[in-house]
Amino acid sequence: MAHSIKSLIESWDGIGVVMRFDQETGTWIFIALHSDQLGMPSGGTRMKVYPSPSAGLRDAMRLARGMTQKWAAVGLNYGGGKAVLSVPRVLTSKQREGLLRRYGRLIESLKGSFATGPDLGTSAQDMSIVAQETAFVHGVDRDTGVSIDPGPYTAKGVFEGIKATMRHVFGSESVAGRVVHIQGVGGVGDPLARLLKQAGAQIILSDLDSKRAERLSEELGGSDTFEPHTAYEAACDVYAPCAVGGTLNSETIRELKCRIVVGSANNQLEGPEHGRELHERGILYAPDYIVNAGGAIALGLMTQGVRDAATIDSRIAHIGVSLAEILKVAKEKGESPDEAATRVVRTRLNPNGHSA
Ligand code: NAD
Repeated sequence: MAHSIKSLIESWDGIGVVMRFDQETGTWIFIALHSDQLGMPSGGTRMKVYPSPSAGLRDAMRLARGMTQKWAAVGLNYGGGKAVLSVPRVLTSKQREGLLRRYGRLIESLKGSFATGPDLGTSAQDMSIVAQETAFVHGVDRDTGVSIDPGPYTAKGVFEGIKATMRHVFGSESVAGRVVHIQGVGGVGDPLARLLKQAGAQIILSDLDSKRAERLSEELGGSDTFEPHTAYEAACDVYAPCAVGGTLNSETIRELKCRIVVGSANNQLEGPEHGRELHERGILYAPDYIVNAGGAIALGLMTQGVRDAATIDSRIAHIGVSLAEILKVAKEKGESPDEAATRVVRTRLNPNGHSA
């Protein structure tokens, strides 16, 4: 075992990691189980080319910890887990299907220690393939085998988060006339742009795939688009990171020209100190795991048998209420929202103050 993988696992505060090397595709599979305190560890499956297998493992561990926080924050009884399929290159569709089936059998062999859904690099269709091999996939209709795309639900939650921050900063939740920069117009960014446009916001789009941003811009009637390397300089009311994590660091925070950061990307802060840096610059940061929980809420509820759209919508709308409470407490205590959210989650996980 490479030294870095060994030391990562030894120094982690989670339950453990299930690892497998998929010979057929050269893929490292990491299933990081962070906590089962509230229920079965559950989290999405990320498929990505990483610079090294240990980078994939590190990502899985970070994301699994984030899932523990997210489930605790939204009050659903699941634990934190996440899987990474660290592929050596983009796979052909035949290779991909084979990998997903073997991965599904691996999950099934864990007998309920982990359940999954889509994440960056995997789709609802991919999850339908995984679900042919295991019962432990969230949001799959068992009669039709069709897997639900969590993106639009996540977008609804982010939209609720944006409205809550608007209320906090400007005294009104209306986004009409407000400028929102969406970075990443994929499964979440695209439906978020549509919701915002419908509500009268002015949209700026940026994406590594600039054609994708341009296509959506045209469809929405000509929103501004930015190239990814200049995107942080876009003047706006809200910056919505909906692409990758780690985009908020000392360098980008200096460049930002916004009042509010609310988006779906997991682990937006490069380090915990960057939550404070944003706070000191007077930029309101909505903790990612609070606002990006819409998809997890929807799929988690569906797994528990809830099918009623109004119930699911109202649970997602509650994201705005939870965020508003956190922002209020943070203001009262002079904390950054990230610090306040961390405390709220810690209390939920550990109500008696004992270590978990
Ligand atoms: P996606 O893969 O469908 O879309 C991501 C988009 O971001 C793509 O268009 C891609 O080209 C673009 N992108 C990638 N790197 C970029 C960069 N450096 N700069 C600009 N654009 C870049 O992913 P998604 O499902 O929309 O998820 C977006 C983010 O939200 C991810 O971080 C994901 O982990 C997180 N998230 C998603 C969900 C969900 O329901 N899909 C739920 C919670 C969190």
